[in-house]
Amino acid sequence: MKVDIAVIGGGPAGSSTALRLAEMGYEVALFDRAASPKSKPCGEFLNPEAARLLSAEFGVELPKDASPMMHASLIPPTGEALTVPLLDAQGEPTIGYSLPRIRTDALLLEAAKGAGVEIHAGANVRKLTSTSLEGQTLDGEPFACESRLVIACDGSNSLVARQRGLVKSIPRLKRIGIVAHFSGVTRAKAGVVHMYPARNGTWGVAGFALQAGGQAVLSAVVPTSASEALCLGQEAFLTQMVLTLPGLPSMLDGAALSGMQTIPSFGHKLSRAFDDGVLFVGDAARFVDPFTGEGVHHALAGALLAADTARTALKKGDVSTASLASYGSARRELNGRYAACDLVQAFVNRPWMIDLAIRNLRHQPRAAERLFGVLVDVLPSRALYSPLVVAGALIPSFR
Ligand SMILES: Cc1cc2nc3c(=O)[nH]c(=O)nc-3n(C[C@H](O)[C@H](O)[C@H](O)COP(=O)(O)OP(=O)(O)OC[C@H]3O[C@@H](n4cnc5c(N)ncnc54)[C@H](O)[C@@H]3O)c2cc1C
Repeated sequence: MKVDIAVIGGGPAGSSTALRLAEMGYEVALFDRAASPKSKPCGEFLNPEAARLLSAEFGVELPKDASPMMHASLIPPTGEALTVPLLDAQGEPTIGYSLPRIRTDALLLEAAKGAGVEIHAGANVRKLTSTSLEGQTLDGEPFACESRLVIACDGSNSLVARQRGLVKSIPRLKRIGIVAHFSGVTRAKAGVVHMYPARNGTWGVAGFALQAGGQAVLSAVVPTSASEALCLGQEAFLTQMVLTLPGLPSMLDGAALSGMQTIPSFGHKLSRAFDDGVLFVGDAARFVDPFTGEGVHHALAGALLAADTARTALKKGDVSTASLASYGSARRELNGRYAACDLVQAFVNRPWMIDLAIRNLRHQPRAAERLFGVLVDVLPSRALYSPLVVAGALIPSFR
């Protein structure tokens, strides 16, 4: 088969980039090895900017039962929460949503199909030579596709990035992701994303949100040293973890565990997010350590930048590394967001630092609101380094 653009991966990055390019008039084929969208381990928080992009840029409206999230609550081991409203740059309330990931992915893939993208589900790409890809379907049938440009959206263990030798690992991000779903949750507060920074000991960071119909999702990222305990019994590990998270046992009182997934997360970034004939988008371009739920936003924002770069390069008829380099500069703000995430991770993974910041921010509500504005992607990343936020987090206020 021959198309203008081949997209590898049908997660948020792949579907949104393919959709955008199809709307620009290109013939686009998308390949995903899964037969249909799968339930991926995810905290399922669509931050306010991700929700806005979905609607405003990709025409995807969230279903009525997507649960609105208006507040974030940072809960240290001491249990005294810092609860902050989610506000936009004008100080007006802004809303994120919690929605099962399988539904978000399906909505985007359906929208891409509606825009004319040729979807090849159950198609595992095994090799990319220049801009020609080869693979095998779930039935064992070989397939091949020639294109003018490839968009690699094949996730955090990107085959394309590895084949091109672009991957740089970030050892400190090598951890284990855990996601658990609960049903029959009647005691949790709606509209709040509960965020638990690291405590001393083996537990990592965690997030919890109530969804529609008494469902709830708990996601955690724990150190690899927890792998032995997880192997001995995932549910026992989960129970122990829940018991250490202030307020969570009572929110889950009477609830039942309805599903649990674990995933090794290999922190990585690429030496560049573009290469001869290829642009990388989403987790394939860079893994973001989940705590504040930015991954889907980064995938959607990256899709817009990649589609613009692709259009310019295809118009010029030049998809060389040099021609695609403008994608690297276009991703500057996005890279600033990854750096901001790294900085926040340095705090949330050190109990004494996050305790200090929470204690200080409790008396500086404006600083706390600005900080969360950056974390949920409604404020530019540079706002994190403003004197208000830095002083608010680091300098004890005089009362
Ligand atoms: C524990 C955890 C919790 C998280 N919580 C949140 C959260 O609350 N909010 C948030 O915004 N983000 C969260 N994230 C991050 C988010 O899940 C990712 O950033 C997001 O999935 C990135 O989308 P993507 O399209 O780049 O990759 P993916 O969603 O991973 O999609 C990649 C796709 O490529 C396909 N693929 C891979 N290889 C091939 C191949 N060779 N051939 C064909 N197809 C292939 C896969 O089947 C897959 O569908 C979390 C991540 C983890 C690990």
